[in-house]
Amino acid sequence: MKNHKSEPALEETTAYERAALEGIDPRCIPQILTNRAPEDQDINYPYYSDEEHDRWKLLYERQMSFLQGRACNEYLEGVQKLSFTPEKIPALKELSTIFKQTTGWKIARVPGLIHEKDFFEMLRRKVFPSTDYIRGENELDYTPAPDLFHDIFGHMPMLTNPDFASFYSMFGKAALKAEGIIRKQLETFHWFTAEFGLIKQSDGMRIYGAGIVSSLGEVQHALSENVEVINFDVEKIITQDYDVWHLQPVLFYIDSFEQLEKGFTKWVKRLGLT
Ligand code: FE
Repeated sequence: MKNHKSEPALEETTAYERAALEGIDPRCIPQILTNRAPEDQDINYPYYSDEEHDRWKLLYERQMSFLQGRACNEYLEGVQKLSFTPEKIPALKELSTIFKQTTGWKIARVPGLIHEKDFFEMLRRKVFPSTDYIRGENELDYTPAPDLFHDIFGHMPMLTNPDFASFYSMFGKAALKAEGIIRKQLETFHWFTAEFGLIKQSDGMRIYGAGIVSSLGEVQHALSENVEVINFDVEKIITQDYDVWHLQPVLFYIDSFEQLEKGFTKWVKRLGLT
């Protein structure tokens, strides 16, 4: 039976609308892609207001000032390769061209958080799904869902590194095949590497995880004495608890991106996921 109230019947609402009614930020609900996401040279540059370009500039300059001496060499080299400038929000199409020349990856434009199967499938195909909208003025320090600053500034520089890029597509391939507890373990592995990973370099501990490099709070916290830093060990990583809502008290470091790639490959081979 149809209901005639102004609110739609529950079965007629989308996951987004239901989430909004329950007070959950709809951006945190993964979307299933119904249309093929535009990729590479098919991605249009959207209109951004002057305020939005200014917001990118503020975020970019503020974060870069903390990353000197904190981010790893490979991340900073990636920033150079991608030719980020503070003046203008980068165009996904142009970044995709640089990806193709460095590691053979491409970029797809996605409307927000996407369903994990779509995400893994894209990574397997060496396609990085990116949003192209920027967080609001009132969320500069924290946003619960990805925006272009997290996706572009946080993730993309590392994807110009061949060892990291190779690990990341292998991750997509393995995660696509994994089920149940193993899928959960892969998500935990992703959290402590791609999002919150550290690397020990000749001049000290450095950051490579996108969740740290794109966050004002995490970038100041991650290398402080308030964090327990543990050497890369797959078994320890996959059983480590984490809380997405607070600064991370435990992080893991690798000695090299080769170690990350080899360690991950050995583990997923043993599980039959390659
Ligand atoms: Fe991320």
